[in-house]
Amino acid sequence: MSTVIPLADISMADLPEVGGKNASLGEMIGRLAERGVRVPGGFATTATAYRSFLAAGGLDARIERMLSSLDVSDVTALTHAGAAIRSMIEEQPLPPELERDIREAFARAVGHESDPDVTWAVRSSATAEDLPDASFAGQQETFLHIAGARNILAAIKKVFASLYNDRAIAYRVHQGFAHSDVALSASVQKMVRSDVGASGVIFTLDTESGFRDAVLITSAYGLGEAVVQGAVNPDEFLVYKPGLRAGRPAILRRRLGQKAIALRFAGESTVDHSTVFEDVAPEERARFSLTDDDVVELARYALVIEEHYGRPMDIEWARDGRDGLLYILQARPETVASRDDGASLDRFVLHSHGDLLASGRAIGQRIGVGAVRVMASVAEMDRVRPGDVIVADMTDPDWEPVMKRAAAIVTDRGGRTCHAAIVARELGIPAVVGTGTATRDLIDGAVVTVSCADGVNGHVFAGSADFTEERTRIDRMPPIPVDLMMNVGAPDQAFAFAELPHAGVGLARLEFIINEMIGIHPQALLDLDSLDGVIADEISRRVAPYGGPREYFVRRLAEGVSMIAAAFAPKPVIVRTSDFKTNEYAHLLGGDRYEPTEDNPMLGWRGASRYVTDRFAESFSMECEALRFVRDEMGLANLKIMIPFVRTVGEAAAVEAALAANGLRRGQNGLEVMMMCEIPSNAMIADRFLDHFDGFSIGSNDMTQLVLGVDRDSELVAAAFDERDPAVLEVLGLAIDACNRRGKYIGICGQGPSDHPDFAEWLVDRGIRSISLNPDSIVGTWMRLAQRGASALPEPESALEPAGGRSS
Ligand code: PEP
Ligand code: MG
Repeated sequence: MSTVIPLADISMADLPEVGGKNASLGEMIGRLAERGVRVPGGFATTATAYRSFLAAGGLDARIERMLSSLDVSDVTALTHAGAAIRSMIEEQPLPPELERDIREAFARAVGHESDPDVTWAVRSSATAEDLPDASFAGQQETFLHIAGARNILAAIKKVFASLYNDRAIAYRVHQGFAHSDVALSASVQKMVRSDVGASGVIFTLDTESGFRDAVLITSAYGLGEAVVQGAVNPDEFLVYKPGLRAGRPAILRRRLGQKAIALRFAGESTVDHSTVFEDVAPEERARFSLTDDDVVELARYALVIEEHYGRPMDIEWARDGRDGLLYILQARPETVASRDDGASLDRFVLHSHGDLLASGRAIGQRIGVGAVRVMASVAEMDRVRPGDVIVADMTDPDWEPVMKRAAAIVTDRGGRTCHAAIVARELGIPAVVGTGTATRDLIDGAVVTVSCADGVNGHVFAGSADFTEERTRIDRMPPIPVDLMMNVGAPDQAFAFAELPHAGVGLARLEFIINEMIGIHPQALLDLDSLDGVIADEISRRVAPYGGPREYFVRRLAEGVSMIAAAFAPKPVIVRTSDFKTNEYAHLLGGDRYEPTEDNPMLGWRGASRYVTDRFAESFSMECEALRFVRDEMGLANLKIMIPFVRTVGEAAAVEAALAANGLRRGQNGLEVMMMCEIPSNAMIADRFLDHFDGFSIGSNDMTQLVLGVDRDSELVAAAFDERDPAVLEVLGLAIDACNRRGKYIGICGQGPSDHPDFAEWLVDRGIRSISLNPDSIVGTWMRLAQRGASALPEPESALEPAGGRSS
């Protein structure tokens, strides 16, 4: 068996000789280079070489003797034995044949590089095939930025010695493995200069929800170690795989991280590889560390790698700041999110909670309660009792034993792919990472609730909150005579909600998406040049990474809409254009200078009436541009559009024309445009409204308010607000019948059926085609509809004949 193999000649079949990491590198270089995946070249030493090195002079027997009598729980003894073994290994010369082979392979590798200043990374790959690879991750050493054969040889020996670092020795003993079961392969690979570039991690699925159609990329400046450790809060990107395969714009979501520091080399020496954290310049922090083109290139590599291995993958990447190119450094199977078979669903639901103490990125969709343990370092490990909430600046592999005992983890620093996040996911405990302030703001000993049950943002609340955990089998939902859809307005929760059984999204309110993704009044963005003061500064700061104010609105809105459309594709997703009232619009940043004060905003300048007035036309065109981009450019043609609060047929016609003028013509690229049926006029002369639309979705909130004359926001008259009132039912019957007669879509998306299952039953009997519910009531309503008899609600006296079907 040879002692050294070029990476290009290695494949997965060589795993026993070069370990998982190096086998995977070789496999990618050999098989995927032709498909465009760029992996830096080099060579690896074999397990055979390692064993012959240890066998020389009986070193292996001496090591075995020292370890056989060692009690690894005696920390002092372990430290002494480990240090002694490592120096024995470093002092022993390499066998002459191995040294010669390494020198030759290195000379050939250098010869392949055109760059005279190229340096090298020396990494370790453990060869124990039957051990879970993840547990070895991070146990052995890596030496970066090495130049010259002599230094390479020294680094290889240090890599060999690192199989006997204290953590690795203890790990093997705890897992019941003989030390001699494991060998080390060292790889010598061209150093990708991410210290002056950028780096990060890619997962070929969304790690929080397990959603398989997206690629998640994290990125920050400097060496990747900082992202993996969680020392920086990186930028994050989600890319839609079907869009990528079709060659369309496919970036669903961009999230700007702080990237406050970067790990770089301390000096220009290529012998001393010590690293330091340096502050990142404010203008570099304020922009994304990857361009859209970079993101797409990385996502393409990830797709090729995932297809090749046939399973979700966890990948490290880096951008060389000198040649500007993107490289893949490592790929291994993703083992946590991909475990979920989708047959059942655990959902934590938070009912009430104490004061908000800290917020950050949510890891794990669960809720944990316990006493706070603020830890300055892992040396304080003994203070943590089972069920405590660990609060730390950040964590590394040394923390793993203590993390196993925790009810939850909270860190100041880190993003979704940092060490704390990865371990928390594997352990199935909630974590909130990147809070910025938790170690300062949380009080040691105080009981807190760590909640990751509300999407991407995780929260720490004072005290023990009221929550429940629900497990539902969702693989065999019984048949029901209606489509159950969901109301989803939060883009960051869309992937998680899409796991529920569903027939698509019946209502995505654009107001919610604008609030979450933009938060700025559209007119203030359009007028940015003429604004000044703090508001102008704040708006300028937010729009900077997107190139300009209009681009900011359109691209951010497209991100929010495309997240929802992608999560539920190919099922329909009905997005409703904005229906802010004037008082609500005034609350957006800069909004007060554009919104009139109305006595009755609920009955005022809202919905369709805005789109057809000059002062809002440009804002409406930005909404249309985002929707058109998602449908026609990104290819998410499952997106349908809905228009709210259309008072008159004249308004209906004007809106239809305004949509068409903005590139959204009914029928074009399969576009369907619905109308909210939520004003009595809509139902009374339904046919005339339906001339301009492809169907109705009943807004029972506004409809009930307007039929009964009850202000839906007033506590004083709340008792009179009931969607099941006979007068309301009668009006709804008119709308349902009109749509069914014309063979047009008829659904409902108001709150009524989520709150009143008997109302849902009545609607089914009355001939509705789809019911859109709040996500938390979908499973319960589904079961009830599957089990029930006829609806218990009285038919209104004047009701027409029961509807004969969905279309006539
Ligand atoms: C409704 O009126 O029932 C509806 C769904 O719209 P909104 O609640 O947004 O007014
Ligand atoms: Mg409404």
